[in-house]
Amino acid sequence: MLSLVAVSSHSSAESIDIDNYRQLVGDALIDEILHLSDGLKGLRLCNINATASGGGVAELLNREVPIYRALGIEADWRIIHGDKAFFEITKSFHNALQGSEFQLTDGVRQDYLEHNRTCAELLEVSYDIYVVHDPQPAAIRYFHRTRQDKWVWRCHIDSSSPNEQVWEFLRPYIEAYDAAVFTAEPFRPPDLRMDRVAFIAPAIDPFATKNIDLPQNLCRQAIADSGVNLREPLLLQVSRFDPWKDPLGVIQVYRLVKKQRPGVQLALIGAMAGDDPEGWDMLETINAEATADPDLHVFTNLTGVGNMEVNVFQRGADLVIQKSRKEGFGLVVSEALWKEKAVVAGAAGGIPMQFPKGYHQYLVSNAEECAAKLLYLLDNPDEVAAFGRAGRERVRAEFLLPRLVHDQLKLIADLLERGGAQTKA
Ligand code: UDP
Repeated sequence: MLSLVAVSSHSSAESIDIDNYRQLVGDALIDEILHLSDGLKGLRLCNINATASGGGVAELLNREVPIYRALGIEADWRIIHGDKAFFEITKSFHNALQGSEFQLTDGVRQDYLEHNRTCAELLEVSYDIYVVHDPQPAAIRYFHRTRQDKWVWRCHIDSSSPNEQVWEFLRPYIEAYDAAVFTAEPFRPPDLRMDRVAFIAPAIDPFATKNIDLPQNLCRQAIADSGVNLREPLLLQVSRFDPWKDPLGVIQVYRLVKKQRPGVQLALIGAMAGDDPEGWDMLETINAEATADPDLHVFTNLTGVGNMEVNVFQRGADLVIQKSRKEGFGLVVSEALWKEKAVVAGAAGGIPMQFPKGYHQYLVSNAEECAAKLLYLLDNPDEVAAFGRAGRERVRAEFLLPRLVHDQLKLIADLLERGGAQTKA
């Protein structure tokens, strides 16, 4: 059954006070946000994406929407619901925008457009501005025939070298928008023809349950209670079970490390997203590996691992891995760096931009390299501590929520010509 439902994000506007961020990001940025939002009070803003939980977009909207509301903007969040076949198509589009092979048939084209057309018809409320995330609902703008509002397509994917066939199919629907936003300039497909393209990196909320400060001894105790032996080192990857995040490659890395450090353990935490049918097959494979290995721990949202548990594991783990082969941004990297963790990660998409200066040697391109860096860090606690401090400062300066809110409000103000400075086009 197809529907377009409203999501109420987990935190309410009342629980958010923008002034709390001053101590972290400084007065100038917060004052600028207040100035921009003054000109946007009462604005009706609709975010549209494909899932309310699991994955970075849901994570971002859960934090952004309440902030906008707290700033006096009437922000809503709607998700498109589709059947399994639709999400198989859109997951393939997602992968194809990252460059993978896909056979685009007439049937696929028709299914995708039909779902988007129906969603557009269901979108009866009129807003001043729509922000549509990623390819799943991208054609809604084309089918929604109003002209007095503004539409932004927000791409969270590294689409620098997309599958040509899929991109050529999607491109006219995207060019129907007033603006497109990519995480970084290299992610813009070379032949996209639009007047306004902005580059805005995602960010994490330091006050979210996932990132809030927690005492280290409490985290270690909670991890020990879950069956991990903390007398031995714990490696961690938190990610959807997706081939691009390479969880099987992480297991391979852990086995390489284990040859030198037999006590080492690995925790894989993976949320299952509603719009990600591939994840379920992968979970089965990973569980089969874990059943045969008491030092390999697998946790999912299905067994009650939520934001607090992710926070606890990110803080309590000895080293964090993010062995992505492709990555839009990788919020998990900023989350771990914010917690002063050393991270060994794939040199993919939005990951390198998050790394602090002087630590890019921990960006890797294969399992052997990854294992070697982890072994080095396990033997060098001073390097781990310095990396952690530099990582936290990098995230504080560049990747905390107020910077994202500021950049988005600036783009919106500019599109609506309601105050604010001109946004870089
Ligand atoms: N996440 C989570 N539980 C999990 C796996 C992931 O809460 O089991 C969160 C993770 O902490 C991060 C988001 O989901 O906030 C994933 O965003 P990211 O940008 O890293 O990757 P995406 O899934 O969007 O590709």
